[in-house]
Amino acid sequence: MDILEHFIDGQRRTSASDRTGDVYNPATGRVSKRVPMGTAEELDAAVKAASKAFPEWSAQPPLRRARCMFRLKALLDEHADDLAAILTSEHGKVLEDARGEVTRAIEVVEFACGAPQLLKGEYTDSVGTGVDSFSLRQPLGVVAGITPFNFPAMVPLWMIPMALVCGNTFVLKPSEKDPSASMMLADLLTEAGVPAGVFNVVHGDREVVDAILEHPDIQGISFVGSTPIARKIFETGTAHGKRVQALGGAKNHLVVMPDAPLDAAADALIGSAYGSAGERCMAISVAVCVGNDTADELVAKLKPRTEALKIQPGDVAGAEMGPLVTREHRDKVSSYVDIGVEEGAELVVDGRGFVHPDAPDGFFFGGTLFDRVRPDMRIYEEEIFGPVLVVVRVGSFDEAVDLINAHVFGNGVSIFTREGDAARTFVQRIQAGMVGVNVPIPVPMAFHSFGGWKQSLFGDHHIYGPEGIRFYTRLKTVTQRWHRGMREGADFFFPKLG
Ligand code: NAD
Repeated sequence: MDILEHFIDGQRRTSASDRTGDVYNPATGRVSKRVPMGTAEELDAAVKAASKAFPEWSAQPPLRRARCMFRLKALLDEHADDLAAILTSEHGKVLEDARGEVTRAIEVVEFACGAPQLLKGEYTDSVGTGVDSFSLRQPLGVVAGITPFNFPAMVPLWMIPMALVCGNTFVLKPSEKDPSASMMLADLLTEAGVPAGVFNVVHGDREVVDAILEHPDIQGISFVGSTPIARKIFETGTAHGKRVQALGGAKNHLVVMPDAPLDAAADALIGSAYGSAGERCMAISVAVCVGNDTADELVAKLKPRTEALKIQPGDVAGAEMGPLVTREHRDKVSSYVDIGVEEGAELVVDGRGFVHPDAPDGFFFGGTLFDRVRPDMRIYEEEIFGPVLVVVRVGSFDEAVDLINAHVFGNGVSIFTREGDAARTFVQRIQAGMVGVNVPIPVPMAFHSFGGWKQSLFGDHHIYGPEGIRFYTRLKTVTQRWHRGMREGADFFFPKLG
């Protein structure tokens, strides 16, 4: 059985760890390879390589670093199908969705190609007589990325191109559930001309993460994953003096107003709740219906659509939803359905016990729909991260807004309505980082930035886009005077400029 290697200082390195994890093909339920659970020493070797590479890489003109990204973009275009196939084989998502993931990742690389423009500072001529000021954005140094299983290519590429064009060097700790995409990224970055040590991959679990949090030579950490771990990364990383952005979990609501086009709303809910088997941080998992008539009509439209989902291995043509990532995760999702039934929610479509006839050992789960879910139920409060959509009924628009604002998460949210006034008020009042109006998954494009509020993000910076540039750089402001403007004698007071 193949055991993956780390990628350190431009080379593949066999891990010395005596611990490994299984990597599955979720569609068959079989182990396809093993991943080493790296050690603190291996992380240290990667940080040393990244530290060694930093002075030369950060001294390169941004234009040259950007040229690596132009080449990377071309390589990703060329290998998009291979990368998508890796994603499907380890994550389980259907191929077309995997291609979509690669496309969104490439868009961040395209944005990073604009580094020379993005890194331009500000300049003020003559802030005083003979005195000028300008600002620089300089890289942090060695930065680390810790990424989740659900986007094994896109989430690392939310970070890597942005960090690298700013002049940082990078150590990635990918998810141990689907780690192979990160090795392909290492190969493509090398082919794109990124020098040895600038990008490194160390596989593993908590041991490597803890070593990252405590390593004195790591200046910044980008984390994407579940909220309990995001909180730990933020608290421990900042306590060790690092800059941290830690994106956490979500429970994304979609409000359906009485005037909404209900067929469009139902289609949007089906795609966003069950696409990628609900394993998206921007999946809609709660439909908030304003009025009982709206709810009755919507549920009547959702039920047959949920029952008709084409659940297949991801590489089968026409598949709409693949398996969940692991058996353990499938069982956890299933236990939430048990909880919902015990809590008294109305189970409209039950996905438990779905078995694919040709792949009985795959980690499949059927689309599940609950109606009459109350805000005090665990299936409403907690992130399930599977193909489970819950319907909550409220009496008014204000009640919908208050419900959403009271939730601990604030990642994505959406409203379906024909009424501009309601939509505008919603955009203004809702407490979430990413808002959609008649758009079910409002993921910002690469030239905006991605991030939630409340327990969906710890830290001050959203990820990629302009916020990514700010996160991966420190601001330096220079005030300069040359000889001709200098005066004689000590000055003991704040200068009165002008
Ligand atoms: P996870 O939190 O279990 O794992 C994320 C990373 O943290 C992995 O690399 C993992 O190895 C590491 N990790 C796990 N347990 C750890 C521990 N105890 N100590 C240190 N490190 C640990 O998340 P996941 O299951 O891989 O991904 C799904 C979660 O990610 C969901 O909650 C989802 O909402 C969230 N997510 C959020 C966003 C976002 O942008 N906000 C995007 C994608 C996924």
